[in-house]
Amino acid sequence: MTVSGRRIAVRGVVQGVGFRPWVWRVARDSGVGGRVSNDAAGVTIEAFGSAAALEAFVSRLRQDPPPASEIRELTESEIAPEATSGFVIVESRKTGDLSVSIPADLATCADCEREIFDPHDRRYRYPFTNCTNCGPRFTITREVPYDRPATTMATFRMCAACQAEYDDPADRRFHAQPNACPACGPGLAAVGPGGEPLGWLDPVAAAARALEAGLIIAIKGIGGFHLACDATSTLAVRRLRERKRREEKPLAVMVRDLAAAERLAEIGGEERRLLLSPERPIALLRRRDDSGLAPEVAPDNRDVGVMLAYTPLHHLLLADAARPLVMTSGNLSDEPIATSNAEAVARLGGIADAILVHDREIASRCDDSIARVIAGASTVFRRSRGFVPRAVTVREPFPEPVLACGPHLKNTFCFGVGSSAYLGPHIGDLENLETLAAFEEAVTRMERFLRVSPAVIAHDLHPLYLSTRYALGRPDGVKVGVQHHHAHVVSAMAEHGLEGPVIGLAWDGTGWGPDGTAWGGETLLVREASSERLATFRPVPLAGGDSAIRQVWRVALALVDDAFDGAAPLERLPLFRSLLESEVAVVRQLIRKGINTPLARGVGRVFDGLGALVLSRGVSRFEGQVAMAWNNVADETERRAYPFDVENETTLPAIDLRPMVRAAVEDLIAGTGAASISGRFHNTLARAAAWLVRRARRHAGHLPVVLTGGCFQNALLTERVLAELESSDRVFLHRRVPPGDGGIALGQAVAASAVLRASKGVV
Ligand code: ZN
Ligand code: ZN
Ligand code: FE
Repeated sequence: MTVSGRRIAVRGVVQGVGFRPWVWRVARDSGVGGRVSNDAAGVTIEAFGSAAALEAFVSRLRQDPPPASEIRELTESEIAPEATSGFVIVESRKTGDLSVSIPADLATCADCEREIFDPHDRRYRYPFTNCTNCGPRFTITREVPYDRPATTMATFRMCAACQAEYDDPADRRFHAQPNACPACGPGLAAVGPGGEPLGWLDPVAAAARALEAGLIIAIKGIGGFHLACDATSTLAVRRLRERKRREEKPLAVMVRDLAAAERLAEIGGEERRLLLSPERPIALLRRRDDSGLAPEVAPDNRDVGVMLAYTPLHHLLLADAARPLVMTSGNLSDEPIATSNAEAVARLGGIADAILVHDREIASRCDDSIARVIAGASTVFRRSRGFVPRAVTVREPFPEPVLACGPHLKNTFCFGVGSSAYLGPHIGDLENLETLAAFEEAVTRMERFLRVSPAVIAHDLHPLYLSTRYALGRPDGVKVGVQHHHAHVVSAMAEHGLEGPVIGLAWDGTGWGPDGTAWGGETLLVREASSERLATFRPVPLAGGDSAIRQVWRVALALVDDAFDGAAPLERLPLFRSLLESEVAVVRQLIRKGINTPLARGVGRVFDGLGALVLSRGVSRFEGQVAMAWNNVADETERRAYPFDVENETTLPAIDLRPMVRAAVEDLIAGTGAASISGRFHNTLARAAAWLVRRARRHAGHLPVVLTGGCFQNALLTERVLAELESSDRVFLHRRVPPGDGGIALGQAVAASAVLRASKGVV
């Protein structure tokens, strides 16, 4: 037999996901000798055998890789043949670049799930079961490289049976770092709200009974604690909301499997794929009328956030409780999610009736991710557990390490190293010291994991944001400010590998604009290093500044006053009949005199204002609540649209929505339903978007278009915009990086590097 040699380089998500043992098994089955090893960029295989055996080997490598892996590139080259005695897994080479070495957390695999429900298995009902295909990774890692002693599993000594699995390349648990069993691994316990042991013999079964009885249980998970209750019980959900001080924001629901999810919501092929993906995000789905969920789970929302069980503990609990459970982050509103047992007692003791704790520590806080299907494919809204710290590969390598500190709301940060951009976990709104502390902690940890000290620090232009102040307060690095909407567009470009220039529609609530107005309805001509404003929206005065973000009736008043030249028929509009005349008069004065009334161009604000007007809802209990309700009420079969104008057409065109507001007010007074008015409103914005794109292309050429900003989390708006544009248009939506502010740090990192490159005269 003639032996030949082949070197195979595999790139993608191939570390910490059981890739090497799988290669080992395939090699053994194909009768191929050689070795497989991890390196900085992925996995390298050197294989030797007959031409036919090598052929079979490579074709199987391409066909069915392990479920959590993702092969992005597989290249082969001839090498000199060697005599081998079998196939071996080579220990990790210590290389300078450790950046790829920590995998993201993985949902429980089907094999592990089978074991925990098998009474004859030694892991029967064991809540910490995992293998190379599944289990915690990033959240248990303290140091790099990712190896058991560097994780919070270091304190558990494997028993002989577990060690044998760990050492056997043929075993599913070969080098599974968190490998454990009831004899040697972490254990579960139930404590009361004050931390006192409850002495429950079977904490899972007892917790399930408590949930059935309507109690609230805090549960230690992968990246933090959840608060759980019976999602079908109005009483339980109400009690949870009261105690958590979360009045109306939708709560996520967890179910055991796809069949259970199908009983709650409409699920198509793409939704199914999303729910079952190893990241197991919360998928936003259209709720079924007969879902049986308590309406309080997601008040006036036709969608519901659903995720499938992603740890053995979830599977066991849901099997015992036999009902969908609310699983919301374990915090008081606006605080970071609790991660340690002591923190849970201190912060969740006032909310939960009992707390399920365990002794495997969470090293990194990581909230659940959120995604939804838009225009036939999924888009991540919150990129956290399951995704972090996986990198986004960028087109042009970062010349020097960059830290981008992200935005103010829905903060994430981003490290740029080499060709990789590492977005950190969801931090939340940087509005209090607890969140700022969580931000600093997460930045420091990621810095340590990547072993970089950033030479460039990118930040928002708003001088008062805590993220900006953190950036400017750092002793190291060149500071580069990046405008909010420029960063939005560049994040979309980076995701799709677009060099630019592109035409970017950046529509959101608010972002600091260089002209002293709050931007948010911008059409920009963007290169990575620069941005030119092509068009915007006619601004709306925000009486009282930020207080108008909650007091959305103020935006409604500003819109109708502007549209009717100060003579709006307020007495015929129910919203204003419900408000005090004196209050309305005061705000009118603020607007007319321009006192504490910044101008805002955010399309999100128009959603707030028109939603308030038509739905007669003056106040948002959380940012964007009325805008969301306004989106939710839309009749999707509505085809009509309202007129709009364009002002300053020759200089800086601005979409003038006054004709739309007048027509909507007429409709409202004539008794047209909110569903039709909302549908027409969405169609109007879609036509405005199409007009903006056509005009920008006349001005700048037939460039690619990106849609970015929080408004493009609105599936109806996004789909209508796509329908208004010609099919040949190269239009890019966010997919793996959030369209909202959670994706902005990536754009900041890429833009800041490009700015510095340009300033040094390097092209
Ligand atoms: Zn598994
Ligand atoms: Zn064991
Ligand atoms: Fe934004």
